[in-house]
Amino acid sequence: MAAKRICLFFSRVSGGTAGIRGLTNYCLSCCVNTLLQTFSATWELVDLLESWDSAHVSPNGSNIALEMKKFLVAHQSERPISHTGILHCLDRNGVQLHTQHDADEVFFFILNLIQSQMDDKILVEKIRSLYKLSVQTHVQCLKCSSVQTKDSFLLSLPLHIKEDNTSLKDCLTSFFEDHELSGLNCCFCPQCEVKTPSKQGVRLLTLPPILCVQLKRYRNNDGYTRKLGYRVTFPETFDFLTTADQAFSKDFAQTNCQYSLYAVVVHSGSAGCGHYTTYVRHKASGSWYYADDSDTDEVTWSEVQKSYGGPRRPTAYMLMYRKE
Ligand SMILES: [Zn+2]
Repeated sequence: MAAKRICLFFSRVSGGTAGIRGLTNYCLSCCVNTLLQTFSATWELVDLLESWDSAHVSPNGSNIALEMKKFLVAHQSERPISHTGILHCLDRNGVQLHTQHDADEVFFFILNLIQSQMDDKILVEKIRSLYKLSVQTHVQCLKCSSVQTKDSFLLSLPLHIKEDNTSLKDCLTSFFEDHELSGLNCCFCPQCEVKTPSKQGVRLLTLPPILCVQLKRYRNNDGYTRKLGYRVTFPETFDFLTTADQAFSKDFAQTNCQYSLYAVVVHSGSAGCGHYTTYVRHKASGSWYYADDSDTDEVTWSEVQKSYGGPRRPTAYMLMYRKE
């Protein structure tokens, strides 16, 4: 199917500095639009895609890495191109057009598809390393106190949110708290040679250059999904070392853990019917912009804070922080 040519809105802020480009909502594409704004603001990813020698890849519209490279590089140039190539490529790979999607599912779908469809394994590893948090899971038997550990990695921090007025710090604290496994959740202890109650927890081994935080705002109860609109505050900058000091493994060795927010994916509406928009920080000026499909506006940090949520308010859903 031929890509339909669309108009791109290009905003300029005073002083001639380029602002950010809006993206036309095409077939309910607000979810993908917000993610493309977020990926576009992740210039480390754009640079890696741009460095990929993709001349041998068939331009048949099925390779998401190629479509992302073409779009993201052009999006930052004087000659932007339509993002319909990406929308059709996602459609060919199972993310249907004309359908509302969940932003965090599509975000990981795109990242995973880039990694599986890209033939340069060194670049694939560099892209994964951008987002990769290495973690150690420990399980301590409550009968004999022996500890088993397992190293793995995450590409984001999925944080559960609570009903009370809460903060990113509270969410991080509860993510790294140990919890008891008992009853059906008992684990096999090699020392006791039976399933025993235990205490399980996660500790960080390394933190990534790009920290993606997912605020888990959807809860499924008896087959019915509802959205949690609770207010969650988050800072523009924070030091992970002092914000979540209980989060680290004894093998954690990084000393600079200062992060700065550069994009917020926002959801308005209910679980069944809603709209995605984005706040992104401009690379050159450092100013915040609000992108609602094709409309873009320069905004202040206090405007971004309106996405903390609360009754009938837009809610931040994904937070993208960059290590300073
Ligand atoms: Zn044991």
